Amino acid sequence: MKKLDVWFVTGSQHLYGPETLNQVTRDSQEIAKALDAAPAVPVNVVFKPVLVTPEAVTELVLAANHAPECIGIISWCHTFSPSKMWINGLKQLHKPALHLHTQYNRDIPWSTIDMDFMNLNQAAHGDREHGFIWSRLRLNRKVVVGYWREKQIQQKIGAWSRAAAAWNDWQGAKFARFGDNMREVAVTEGDKVAAQFKFGYSVNGYGVGDLVAVINSVTDKEVDRLVEEYESTYEVTSDLRKNGNRHKFVREAARIEQGMRTFLKNGDFKGFTTTFEDLHGLEQLPGLAVQRLMADGYGFGAEGDWKTSALLRAVKIMGTGLSGGASFMEDYTYHLDPAGKLVLGAHMLEVCPSIADRKPALEVHALGIGGKMDPARLVFNTPPGPATNASLIDMGNRFRLLVNEVDVVRLEQPMPKLPVAQAVWKPRPNLEDACASWIYAGGAHHVAFSQAVTGEMLEDFAEIADIEFLLIGEKTTVPEFKKELRTNEVYYASNRGWTI
Ligand code: MN
Repeated sequence: MKKLDVWFVTGSQHLYGPETLNQVTRDSQEIAKALDAAPAVPVNVVFKPVLVTPEAVTELVLAANHAPECIGIISWCHTFSPSKMWINGLKQLHKPALHLHTQYNRDIPWSTIDMDFMNLNQAAHGDREHGFIWSRLRLNRKVVVGYWREKQIQQKIGAWSRAAAAWNDWQGAKFARFGDNMREVAVTEGDKVAAQFKFGYSVNGYGVGDLVAVINSVTDKEVDRLVEEYESTYEVTSDLRKNGNRHKFVREAARIEQGMRTFLKNGDFKGFTTTFEDLHGLEQLPGLAVQRLMADGYGFGAEGDWKTSALLRAVKIMGTGLSGGASFMEDYTYHLDPAGKLVLGAHMLEVCPSIADRKPALEVHALGIGGKMDPARLVFNTPPGPATNASLIDMGNRFRLLVNEVDVVRLEQPMPKLPVAQAVWKPRPNLEDACASWIYAGGAHHVAFSQAVTGEMLEDFAEIADIEFLLIGEKTTVPEFKKELRTNEVYYASNRGWTI
């Protein structure tokens, strides 16, 4: 995050004269410096000279577009900046934007206020002129209102900068699919050309044989090194340890992991998919390997689910440095006790240990699907607390990001016979309304689950990506949610409000 910058841009005009403009510069520098130092803002905030002409605005926008370290701009008008001078620049902006509606002084200085003060501190109306042009040009941005020293304002800026960092990470990103989609499954399909155009990442398929060739070239020394790492990192029973009678299963898992690592590193991939229907030449369904690669920041989707793989990668970038991990996840089974209705989330094997509540246990069990050697996997529970489940789906004419805010609960009873990692949560507002809304929206059974990323960050991300966003949270009711779905159909059919 500290390699990434957001540019702090203040709009004004020549009308005020050099003395006022110098003051605007000093005040803006102070605000930029405070935001840069704010713990809630993970990226650098870089002051840019105050903009007073149309040429300067255009020059700034073009420079932002071309600066690789610049992931977005924050704009603010301390004074009044006539917005027609912003049109030519803003229509060329290709980076995320945040309009900070703040004021240098917190309070009105009742006893000393005069017209000089009024002349300098005009954000209350200057930012309205500024807001109009963004709306008139139908440009997405996040509007944050409040005093710049306040923590909650800095947190909103921080949430947006996390979304902007994830967006930046997607541009030019590559995702590998080992095999194709699980046969006949609909929701994991989608338009990869539209995704590349809209999101900036590419998704390409690779024959499993290409991966197997790399796995087969892994040396025993490399396997030894990984096995040692497993034994020092996880709870491992003696039969799975070196010289144990089931050690071969762990060695095979390590060989698969090393091969996948090499393949992904050589291809500069940020995420991948697998499918249990296409494992030709693989001795095990990759479980442990996928779990450990996710923990290192790779996106992952099972059954060929490239949209969830890319989304998980984005969620991992958004949550960088925050407490709480993120994982590929699937709504697996329900607990419908009226005293507390819950969802058990898991997958066959592939849950990321970044969400583990303790040292994971490395285990080997038979798997009734895929018809392969018993695969190794890490088993653990997930700590209680708020989390988000995010699903990116292809609606044919657009992408939709659907999010449910949930609360992971502490397990009341152990599940000693369940040989996979899992999380148990209570969806907001309640199981019935959350699931009904999710199903009306066409949300997938696969999600990117995170205990670090909030609904606000994901909304900011959808705004930057310019896609539909739907949140199922504490305030959701099914009738209102259905209305939102219908309204959105019209909105997206009308070219986002440009022509009706
Ligand atoms: Mn699945």
